[in-house]
Amino acid sequence: MFRNWFIMHEQCPECGCLFEREPGFFLGSIYFNYGITAITMTALYMTAYFLQWAENKTLLMYAIGYVILVPAFLHPFARSLWANFDQMWDPRDH
Ligand SMILES: [Zn+2]
Repeated sequence: MFRNWFIMHEQCPECGCLFEREPGFFLGSIYFNYGITAITMTALYMTAYFLQWAENKTLLMYAIGYVILVPAFLHPFARSLWANFDQMWDPRDH
């Protein structure tokens, strides 16, 4: 499905169907990416804050790094999840 971490193939190599069904199709993957990032970041931040693992400014720096790096890491997984979610609810003919 992916040429590299950030760039997708346009078509499935097996059946030739287009991965991007319409312009903006993969905007929906942002729901998955944002949701996973926000939930895990909030849980980690709250845990670190209340257990006093570090000063608040230090935690904030970690949180900023987290919300930049984790969505980049999740990008292909979120797109795959979105494509499969779409296929499950609105199957293609071929
Ligand atoms: Zn295919």
